[in-house]
Amino acid sequence: MLDLFPDTTRIEDGELAIGGVRGSALAAEFGTPLLVYDEETIRARARAYRAAAPDAAVVYGTKAFPNVEVLRILAEEGIGADVSTLGELRFAVAAGLGGDRIVVHGNNKSDEELAAAAELGALVVVDSLEEVGRARRAGVRRTLVRFTPGIEANTHEAIRTAHHGSKFGLPAADAIEAVRIAPETEGLHVHIGSQLLDLDAAVLSVDWLATFAAQVRAETGWVPRTVDLGGGLGVRTSLDEPELSIDAFVGRVLQELGRAFALEQLPLPAVVLEPGRSLVARAGVTLYTVGSVKRVAGSTTYVAVDGGMSDNPRPALYGARYVAVLANRADETAVSAPYAVAGKHCESGDVLIERIELPQPVRGDILAVPGTGAYTLSMSSSYNVVPRPAAVLVADGHARLIRRRETIDDLLALEA
Ligand code: PLP
Repeated sequence: MLDLFPDTTRIEDGELAIGGVRGSALAAEFGTPLLVYDEETIRARARAYRAAAPDAAVVYGTKAFPNVEVLRILAEEGIGADVSTLGELRFAVAAGLGGDRIVVHGNNKSDEELAAAAELGALVVVDSLEEVGRARRAGVRRTLVRFTPGIEANTHEAIRTAHHGSKFGLPAADAIEAVRIAPETEGLHVHIGSQLLDLDAAVLSVDWLATFAAQVRAETGWVPRTVDLGGGLGVRTSLDEPELSIDAFVGRVLQELGRAFALEQLPLPAVVLEPGRSLVARAGVTLYTVGSVKRVAGSTTYVAVDGGMSDNPRPALYGARYVAVLANRADETAVSAPYAVAGKHCESGDVLIERIELPQPVRGDILAVPGTGAYTLSMSSSYNVVPRPAAVLVADGHARLIRRRETIDDLLALEA
């Protein structure tokens, strides 16, 4: 099970430690629920991308976990930012990134967002025909056109993005029109979906891209100088899911790009990659405190924790599956009576883990859920007026706050 935790995770005197800091010490100092990020794992994943694609521009899908310190660490490793709102753009700028390292997305960009992108000189990914003119009027100088190849990626339908009928990108005919009316367009973008755990759809999307680029050349004479292949590499959060390494995924996709563009006798374009989840998911672990253990009808015993769908909506949204250990009793044998880990929210669907074996949990235990570094805090809510958790970064036996805990007073302050 430690395979699902950050690289530096160890068992020390029976306790789970990440980055040299014990879970119980983190819970005592910072409270729970708490997102713990391991700096070494983030840096290792960033380096894996840089090594697998040394000539590509790699930009972090900020939506996975918008955090200024994480953006700064990634910037140190040579990684820019993919942003999809003005808010994410401001975070990237706060981390010190210049427009030359920022890619701006969004299927409904406001004029304000386009103007901010233009001012920074960022690369803007155009997502509709009407946006072509607005981007130009806003002063945007560098653009890509996002097109939807009509691929059904093998992932949850809510995170598929390139099927026919997707709200993202332009269908082929409109994408060609976009290039026709804006021949200064630098290139094409495709992102087929998130949490991809096999290569087929990614390879197919590259083939599609090459075929489409050849079609655009035939109809308009235009040739892409840059292709942005999006993000999408999945991360397993339960042991029965397959694992695909950054190296294998990126290597295969780039190989296919070379092959497919050569086949169409197209010049090899510059490449942009936009990984989100695969940079930060494994680095993050959520710590909760067990509040109650309750046996109900049938054989279900609920272990209720002090967070839930507010800090991690993914199980309720996508049926995402997680595992957990008791951080303060990490060397104890799990009993076979299965438990369900429930949150504290007023929804029966607020169940983080439907079935897990644990050493008999008791109130006050610290439950650690690995693989929660992406799309958890960034999708969190304050449902039931439960303040959003804090996040800390651990490295070399030290922990530091990288996002403070929201307070009830913060939430009250929004009330008129
Ligand atoms: N790029 C685009 C356009 C996206 O929509 C997303 C997420 O959905 C990403 C990159 C990051 O994807 P992932 O976190 O799956 O790598």
